[in-house]
Amino acid sequence: SLSERLTTTFKNLRGKGRLSEADVDQTIREIRRALLDADVALPVVRTFTGKVRERALSAEVSEALNPGQQVVKIVNDELVGILGGQTRRLNFAKRPPTVIMLAGLQGAGKTTLAGKLAHWLKSEGHRPMLVAADLQRPNAVNQLQVVGERAGAFVYAPEPGNGVGDTVQVATDSMDVARSKLYDVVIVDTAGRLGIDEVLMQQAADIRAAVEPDEVLFVIDAMIGQDAVVTAEAFLEGVDFTGVVLTKLDGDSRGGAALSVAQVTGRPIMFASTGEGMKDFEQFHPDRMADRILDMGDILTLIEQAEKTFDQKETEKLAKKVESGEDFDLDDFLTQMAAIKKMGSLKKMLGMLPNAAQFREQLEAFDEREIDRVEAIVRSMTPQERANPRILNGSRRARIAKGSGSTVTQVNQLMERFAQAQKMMRQMRKGGGRGGPAGAMP
Ligand code: GDP
Ligand code: MG
Repeated sequence: SLSERLTTTFKNLRGKGRLSEADVDQTIREIRRALLDADVALPVVRTFTGKVRERALSAEVSEALNPGQQVVKIVNDELVGILGGQTRRLNFAKRPPTVIMLAGLQGAGKTTLAGKLAHWLKSEGHRPMLVAADLQRPNAVNQLQVVGERAGAFVYAPEPGNGVGDTVQVATDSMDVARSKLYDVVIVDTAGRLGIDEVLMQQAADIRAAVEPDEVLFVIDAMIGQDAVVTAEAFLEGVDFTGVVLTKLDGDSRGGAALSVAQVTGRPIMFASTGEGMKDFEQFHPDRMADRILDMGDILTLIEQAEKTFDQKETEKLAKKVESGEDFDLDDFLTQMAAIKKMGSLKKMLGMLPNAAQFREQLEAFDEREIDRVEAIVRSMTPQERANPRILNGSRRARIAKGSGSTVTQVNQLMERFAQAQKMMRQMRKGGGRGGPAGAMP
């Protein structure tokens, strides 16, 4: 597996301090091979590894991770990012009904998905209705009716015996039915096509124009492999869509199509279909899919542990320093900033500090977006200056401002803020955060 191969690769990299081009390329070769094994389309593999390579070469060298681990972390972040970062939820119309249109190749799993969506929406308290706008195959209306019955949802279909009929008319009529019967979500199932067929593509575009859906979901079979890119591009151009549903993930496909479609179309993958049953359906999880595509689970666990251990060591060092009465210097300040950035929220950190309440005002005035600037300024100082900020005279401050792309005023502001933090640390020490409430000592 990739995990095993990468572990071998890393053995050779251990002990190196920085990410060299050779280190990065060696890891990326393994990643490229694994992506192709997972059936990610070739042009997507190229773009993806190119991006990772660039990021890896410009990355700051991590103290917590070895170079190979660092590349893997970048790969994973990038992968999860392209797959959508966080799960995207359905857009509901402000004024019902919400209209969801399904499009995709024949056999992709649209009709099955229509039932699953209806079933799931019902469990969420909605009143969904299904619309048979696939009049292409004689059996299609019947299939949707069976699916609707299983989902316990009303199916709007043209009268039997009326011939092929006009799909656009059916779709338009269904909107009136939904409004009058108070269905709040309308799921429009459309005709599939075996290949990319101009006439059917136009029909889907016409239905789209007629019903103005809140979501157009492009349904694609995860087993489609290398063809994912061409198919997705054709539907993007021919019909356009707001989201993607990946089906047949219960099969043994590694899910490379997910990456191909997400990267090429930039549309979020919203749901995953994992079987023929009504309940074989879930919200799409980018992180789980990233893991399925690259099978890096073991390595990611190791990376997480390495980072946690490192953070813990740094935090302990800082705590010891504060407790021992040593002064809090600019390097500590930087460590603290990095910790805040990693934790994402200053407010969260606030609650973790002993005696924090009395400094709430100062801390809340702190703009979290400024952290990057703070970092740049501190990094422009010499080790001497960081250890002893008192030596920062006017000319040094001007040099630092220039070096960090900020103004002297900003440097001055930072120094003021630092002085406050230092003071705060001293007061906290006096307040006795760790030894229990003040005055509890004999
Ligand atoms: P449509 O032509 O796009 O409407 O596709 P259908 O919904 O008719 O599905 C085509 C075939 O794929 C049917 O036999 C479904 O039972 C099957 N199918 C659909 N979704 C899934 C899935 O997630 N997993 C598996 N294993 N089969 C599926
Ligand atoms: Mg169908």
